[in-house]
Amino acid sequence: MKILVTGGAGYIGVHTILALVNEGYIPIVVDNLSNSSIEGIRRIEKLKNTTIKTYICDIRDAEYLSQIFSENDIQGVIHLAGLKAVGESCSDPISYYDNNVSGTLVLLKTMEKLGVANLIFSSSATVYGNPKTLPIKEDAKLFPTNPYGQSKLMIEKICQDLANKTKLASKNAWKIALLRYFNPIGADKSGVVGEDPKGTPNNVMPYIAQVASGKLERLSIFGNDYPTKDGTGIRDYIHVMDLAEGHVAALRWVLSIKPLISECRAINLGTGSGTSVLELLSIFEKETGVKVPYVYSLRRSGDIASCFADPSLAHSLLGWKASRNMAQMVSDTWRWQEQNPSGYGE
Ligand code: NAD
Ligand code: UDP
Repeated sequence: MKILVTGGAGYIGVHTILALVNEGYIPIVVDNLSNSSIEGIRRIEKLKNTTIKTYICDIRDAEYLSQIFSENDIQGVIHLAGLKAVGESCSDPISYYDNNVSGTLVLLKTMEKLGVANLIFSSSATVYGNPKTLPIKEDAKLFPTNPYGQSKLMIEKICQDLANKTKLASKNAWKIALLRYFNPIGADKSGVVGEDPKGTPNNVMPYIAQVASGKLERLSIFGNDYPTKDGTGIRDYIHVMDLAEGHVAALRWVLSIKPLISECRAINLGTGSGTSVLELLSIFEKETGVKVPYVYSLRRSGDIASCFADPSLAHSLLGWKASRNMAQMVSDTWRWQEQNPSGYGE
């Protein structure tokens, strides 16, 4: 079964491709390589001894996208393509709404035109904003605090409207899973693919890995005065291969829904437990034996104190549960970092 993966050359994309191949699906990649390189896909081809059909295409290119659908018998779409840096979304909101929202509209129009109605969408825990209660359930208030998060919420709403439109039975009833990711980290245990941020990393895990490898001098911990156990921010870190397998589980669920029934469900993908920055550092040092120098600095604007999921819906609906622990997340990150000090550049 052929599954189109937009953004398939990116960090979550390559791991999702791997999970799809592991489960016998045929992924077809569409990516404009604006934040990735083709190397990740090439490495998976080598690892799995297979060929991955890859189109260098911007999802806003309606004509090319239609051609790709027509050339391939696509049964479903995993839509990961988009811009994801919160800070950049504040300084350049138009690019974010254009890439994320307009890009998704082009994709949805193409899918509707060609009768493909099975969709898995990359949303984010950022749609919750600063949560009132923890752990966060899917029915919590949605209150994104930046244009990136707004763009994700807008797409969620468009998807809900599409599914509502087809509630009263049509040939192409939409079946959509809106996956709200918490904090994906780690890499496949092979060490051949991983997170390869351009420039200085924004996220804490690749930052720590680059300090440990000597590429960066020290970690700045953004705030030690949060109302948490040690004053540093708490997040729900999830192994990227667990997340990737969550996509396959969501795909299976979507494909199991009867043709005339439409569905659109938001589903958290997290582990359900929170880890502070200091705890993450100490697990990293224990697992790798490498000391990571750090300093405390001011809070990063827009950051929240704590965020972790209630992942029970994913378990009951999709039969999926994260299975890899923090030690695996950091040791797999480190294996990738050590084997690829310059990411895919070497
Ligand atoms: P990434 O930047 O590594 O991957 C995104 C991919 O999409 C890149 O390969 C990029 O080249 C491609 N892309 C961007 N705009 C495109 C366009 N218009 N047409 C075609 N391709 C385009 O990011 P990622 O971490 O793999 O994230 C994948 C998705 O998951 C994104 O939508 C992101 O918002 C979402 N997400 C990520 C995280 C995270 O922490 N990594 C958390 C929550 C949600
Ligand atoms: N963080 C930090 N230093 C960094 C990057 C992040 O202390 O260089 C903290 C950040 O304040 C938050 C946690 O690490 O408490 C996770 O941040 P990340 O950017 O990885 O994820 P997000 O904030 O998007 O959940």
